[in-house]
Amino acid sequence: MPSTTGVVCPHCGWPDGAEPFQVLSAHPTGAGGTLWTRCACGSLQARVVDGDGTRVVTRGRPSPVEC
Ligand SMILES: [Zn+2]
Repeated sequence: MPSTTGVVCPHCGWPDGAEPFQVLSAHPTGAGGTLWTRCACGSLQARVVDGDGTRVVTRGRPSPVEC
């Protein structure tokens, strides 16, 4: 899976490099951690934090509630 570091959410344009809109859960590991976050558009994201920073590795669809 290609890295999505430095891009924005394709659904709402929220920068992936910015602070997560909402952090649902955090799972620290020795090298960094894994964050489950929800974007401004409602899509779920899994972010991996390591020495290189944070990158989005999985992104769900936006919440259908908003529209
Ligand atoms: Zn979004």
